[in-house]
Amino acid sequence: MQQNKKDMNNEEPNIHNFDLNIIYEYFSETARQGPGNGKETLKALGFIDGLTEKSKIADIGCGTGGQTMVLGENTPCEMIIGVDNCHDFIHQFKQNAQIKNLQDRVKGIVGNMENLPFQKEDFDLIWSEGAIYNIGFERGLNEWRKFLKPGGYIAVTENTWFTEERPAEIQEFWHKIYPEIDTISNKVAQMQKAGYLPIATYILPETIWTDYYTWQTFRRESFLKKYKGNKTIEEFIVSQQYEAELYYKYKAYYGYMFYIGKKM
Ligand code: SAH
Repeated sequence: MQQNKKDMNNEEPNIHNFDLNIIYEYFSETARQGPGNGKETLKALGFIDGLTEKSKIADIGCGTGGQTMVLGENTPCEMIIGVDNCHDFIHQFKQNAQIKNLQDRVKGIVGNMENLPFQKEDFDLIWSEGAIYNIGFERGLNEWRKFLKPGGYIAVTENTWFTEERPAEIQEFWHKIYPEIDTISNKVAQMQKAGYLPIATYILPETIWTDYYTWQTFRRESFLKKYKGNKTIEEFIVSQQYEAELYYKYKAYYGYMFYIGKKM
């Protein structure tokens, strides 16, 4: 789910300005609202040392909690808090926690990642998959750092250029949606500058995007049936389809990366 933030703030009239609830409805039926899966969450978790029964984790932009439940099931932590600004996702998150009997340790709250309701040095680990772009990678790393205990970890995924140069079509597409998209070396430098020791940087497998886009192929069909004749929905679907087409054409040039750092 990569809406143009500018569009969401209604600065530019555009397809993305219409009812955000529709976008939420489109994405709420899947376990994950962005590129990612449980196996990759577990792999990243393998880089985090020292979590105990007293540790606390924040999962920012948690969506319906696909990765939060993995953190709950695979760490001994006392508390794992998922935050998202979408009420519907948090509602679904709470149901998912109940289904997995994790509700005592895995909590979902509605909140804004730009103004988090946390105390200084509350957390041992901050997690954020497919979501930090909403505040911006550099700003998120800088502003969230205060919520980590000294030596605490941050693990985020971020869309990244793999090469120094790339074809204009893909450059322009992503630059418009997310001007902060940048190269691996620049992202790692930003992490270090924000006060973290870079612990791990690696590319997520192509399947996290191909699975995400394949799911959408089916979703598009049922969605179009339900909203037959609705021009806005049809345009939204076309924009999603175009993003997927570009991915298959240009996947050598960009993709999602995990960035894991330790608060220095
Ligand atoms: N981490 C989940 C969801 C990723 S989609 C997963 O990987 O499946 C990005 C999420 O960020 C969405 O759930 C969206 O509602 C949330 N989001 C967008 N802007 C936000 C903000 N300002 N504060 C909190 N959450 C936000």
